[in-house]
Amino acid sequence: MNESLIKKDGLIIAGPCSAESEEQLVTTAKSLAKTGMVDVLRAGIWKPRTNPGGFEGVGLKGLSWLSTAKKETGLPVGTEVATSRHVEDALHYDVDVLWIGARTSVNPFSVQNIADALKGTDSTVLIKNPVNPDLKLWIGAVERIRNAGITNIGLIHRGFSSYGNKEYRNAPIWQIPIEMMRIFPDLPMICDPSHIAGKRDTLHSVSQKSLDLHYNGLIIESHYKPEEALTDKEQQVSPDQLSNLLNQLVWKKESINLPEYQQKIESLREQINQFDDELIHLLQSRMMVAENIGELKKINNVTVLQSNRWNEILEKMLSKTRNTKLSEDFVKSMMELLHVESIRIQNDISNR
Ligand code: PEP
Ligand code: MN
Repeated sequence: MNESLIKKDGLIIAGPCSAESEEQLVTTAKSLAKTGMVDVLRAGIWKPRTNPGGFEGVGLKGLSWLSTAKKETGLPVGTEVATSRHVEDALHYDVDVLWIGARTSVNPFSVQNIADALKGTDSTVLIKNPVNPDLKLWIGAVERIRNAGITNIGLIHRGFSSYGNKEYRNAPIWQIPIEMMRIFPDLPMICDPSHIAGKRDTLHSVSQKSLDLHYNGLIIESHYKPEEALTDKEQQVSPDQLSNLLNQLVWKKESINLPEYQQKIESLREQINQFDDELIHLLQSRMMVAENIGELKKINNVTVLQSNRWNEILEKMLSKTRNTKLSEDFVKSMMELLHVESIRIQNDISNR
């Protein structure tokens, strides 16, 4: 498939979590095409299920349904691949976009196996973040696919699993995709609000947040009868609901050419730069004091960690925070970072 397919800003990929029957897939595809807002039809053919015995996808026959849906709607189609065999079968049926799921991108053996099968093809491959929040695994998966000579690569942020997580099905941990965008500025970042939210009513807020972060597209699960879906039914929306959702989203631009805007933003950014300079100086001064404390402790055979003192610092800072607009979580995380660094410095001194 051509490069422009996933390089387009505002890319919308939609379709059922799973292909269930030819009727379900083709009817859903036609309704999605009618909205005029969908660029690629998605459907899972091979489904990685957490528990055995769940619906594991229709397999090979689903590929011919995808071909039919493509013929009837003109939409390019995409599916998930987890093995080299899946890649070969999907390419045999001219699937336009392949994506590597979160339970596969977590495993370098599987990713390499897929990369080997992709060698010599000009496939378009989307790589979902691994299930656990491991930035390096995600980077590694991109490198393996790239090393196979694939140039049409995109990223999908589908959130990260965690124990007992209530608010989201998969916590977004936005700083990880933000870091991926910094490392791979040329790769489109697509948000998968369906698997992050896990339920229909938060799809909008997750989608809008991603657009505010300048993501390039969205992949959203849509089923002609969401309440009857065999997989992920709480998060799927009908094509009508999808088109309402898309109409409510505001796509923002990275910048605008209004002189008044430029002037204001430059002046605000200058303030940020000055505060950042001060922060660096303050941090350096604070760490120098921590170093002096470390020397004193060493000479006097005193332990590096003193829980009471650490507790006192944290309590003091949190109580100060209550009179500010800063969030306690933020201040707590920042103080924890500072404390870990002070301990590292003092441990180094103690081991000298
Ligand atoms: C899917 O897209 O239906 C899917 C299985 O996603 P993930 O790999 O993100 O769980
Ligand atoms: Mn799904």
